[in-house]
Amino acid sequence: MIEINICHLYPDLLNLYGDRGNVITLVKRAQWRGITVNVSHVSLGESFDSEKYDIVFLGGGQDYEQEIIQDDVLKSKGNEIKNAIQNHKVFLCICGGYQLLGKYYKTWDGKEIEFLGALDLWTIGGKERMIGNIVFECDFLKSESSDGRIVGFENHSGRTYLGPSVKPLGKVVKGYGNNGEDFGEGAIYNNVFCSYSHGSLLPKNPSLADHILTVALKQKYSDFASLEPLNDDFENIAHSTMIKRVMG
Ligand code: GLN
Repeated sequence: MIEINICHLYPDLLNLYGDRGNVITLVKRAQWRGITVNVSHVSLGESFDSEKYDIVFLGGGQDYEQEIIQDDVLKSKGNEIKNAIQNHKVFLCICGGYQLLGKYYKTWDGKEIEFLGALDLWTIGGKERMIGNIVFECDFLKSESSDGRIVGFENHSGRTYLGPSVKPLGKVVKGYGNNGEDFGEGAIYNNVFCSYSHGSLLPKNPSLADHILTVALKQKYSDFASLEPLNDDFENIAHSTMIKRVMG
């Protein structure tokens, strides 16, 4: 029996614009292939043992929620998260959850909030928010049948910059992405996937959902080869409709 264990960290605080839909997508796409899935919720003051999970999810949160979580992340769960990342655990982190893994967040009025420093990246708050639909291209998703394009929705004031050890998740085709300057969107480090895309991200981007599931299953089962294909007609219509709408 193949089983996958997913942890939604801080589900009551990090879950903006339907980010929980990413967890639902991972669950459904695994179950449709006969894979058993367990989802755990771990929040403030609760212990986080990364060994129990194959995928860890952190959703988006505004500056307010990030400040509430900061102490718990840094003092209680921080080392566990950092070790899990170094041990190639799969993480999916969206917007505020993505920023939290970086070194710090400097708000637009100059207040510096120390973050986890698990990834070599940092975020500077701007007065103007970067809001709208976004399309970006992921090289690792390109195949004979896919142009590797991902569509999502972004809404952030933070501008994120990546250090040399972290690569962008994709290249912005339309929208702002990490900072509206360098065409980078999101980040990849080991098996950590970060993105500014809400929307939520995975339901209308099934190739990315399956990529994340595959990486997690390969990590857990050394003989795991690949996921069975699914009928993705509806998901593909949602994907291409949104891409057309955003690209105009
Ligand atoms: N506080 C962050 C920002 O505005 C994150 C917002 C979000 O998660 N959507 O940059």
